[in-house]
Amino acid sequence: MTEEQLFYDKKPAFDRADPEAVAAYAEGYKAFLDRAKTERDAVKEMTARAEAAGFHAYRRGQELRPGDRIYQVNRGKGIILAVIGEQSLAEGVQLTAAHLDAPRIDIRTLPLYESEGMAFFKTHYYGGIKKYQWPAIPLELRGVVCVCEGGEVKKVEVSVGADPSDPKLVITDLLPHLASEQMQKKMVEGFKGEGLNILVGSRPADGKDVKEPVKLAIMRLLNEKYGMKEADFLSAELSCVPAFGACDIGLDRSFLGGYGHDDRCCSYPAATALMGLSSTPAHTCVCLLVDKEEVGSDGVTGMKSRHFDTFMEDICRAQGVAVSECFERSACLSADVCNAYDPNYADVSEKRNDGRVNCGFALVKYTGSRGKSGTSDATAELMARVRCIFDRAGVAWQTAQLGKVDQGGGGTVAMYLANRNIDTVDAGVPVLSMHAPFEVISKLDLYMAFRGFEAFYKA
Ligand code: MN
Ligand code: MN
Repeated sequence: MTEEQLFYDKKPAFDRADPEAVAAYAEGYKAFLDRAKTERDAVKEMTARAEAAGFHAYRRGQELRPGDRIYQVNRGKGIILAVIGEQSLAEGVQLTAAHLDAPRIDIRTLPLYESEGMAFFKTHYYGGIKKYQWPAIPLELRGVVCVCEGGEVKKVEVSVGADPSDPKLVITDLLPHLASEQMQKKMVEGFKGEGLNILVGSRPADGKDVKEPVKLAIMRLLNEKYGMKEADFLSAELSCVPAFGACDIGLDRSFLGGYGHDDRCCSYPAATALMGLSSTPAHTCVCLLVDKEEVGSDGVTGMKSRHFDTFMEDICRAQGVAVSECFERSACLSADVCNAYDPNYADVSEKRNDGRVNCGFALVKYTGSRGKSGTSDATAELMARVRCIFDRAGVAWQTAQLGKVDQGGGGTVAMYLANRNIDTVDAGVPVLSMHAPFEVISKLDLYMAFRGFEAFYKA
């Protein structure tokens, strides 16, 4: 046999996809990315798309027939979509799981203060960020405020900065002229979490004897627009996210830049492939999109929540099937991004094993760190099953890992699904500058992820 027949070669897959289909899919994704900058926004967007694709909100106890399309929202921050298959749930489900949250700057519960004629919000960053990347870029404010009005809870949506005519917010940086001390520090010490304060205004309120006139003027603005008093910050979820849109990158437009590719470049194709199924699949197909992955998957909207189990128990009960029996026969693609090999940072990468841009949907057998800790490590059998599904459907795929052994590491939701006795493997799109306010992926990999999910649902 020849080298070509015997060797595994990671190569760009440009010859394996229609360039027009790749470009068209990227356009839809860009539009989604610009609207879905927080998990709440993403759930709203997904719900609207699902309803347009014939999905209905699931009611407990409702009868389920093959071909039925249902969804369930978890507290506005997660969503499960399902298409009921021809076979019984006792045969298991084809499950995809991805996350909708992304690293960002959260506003603290008591954020507003005035200092030297300027008003700021105190913050607490969310997820693994490099703090130096967040000052001196335009930010939007997104989220909700739940106010208590006459004993009734009222939810108000907040979005400032998305419209081109809107003002933006910013974290200020130190000028280089005065930064000689800062520049000598280690990168992790150059910016402190307590220093990531958001500049929100400077115009004072009129009136004598006002102690904090700028803070008062900002509070009045918030009161007029959202009916807020300062105490309402306690029942708010407000976040600052980058105020720039997704765009093509490269003179040849082969890349796509934007905020929150991790993990929307997996959740979007996982969901759109399910919504796009034109015939009833053999197995029931489920797409699970969760929150809180970036902070460890805890809480009612994270992957460790029983919300998913309760939903599965409900639909299994409709068919008289035990959920444990369903899980045992299910397969899951834990869809999360992986590191793309970057020749600019070659010393932390492992050239043979790291994912590469344009080489397709990346299968990651295990994540974790320090001797494969904190990972589910997919079985050889499952890896082979998934490879075969992709090969049969002509999906360009590759293997990926996260850099050199002992260089660092990370995890995904895979282990929480595998712990439920579901055969699970990580699969995703390779990302450059992961967790930066502006991340980069290849359009071809995004498209191959979509084709991969589609083939997996149909298997
Ligand atoms: Mn992720
Ligand atoms: Mn991440």
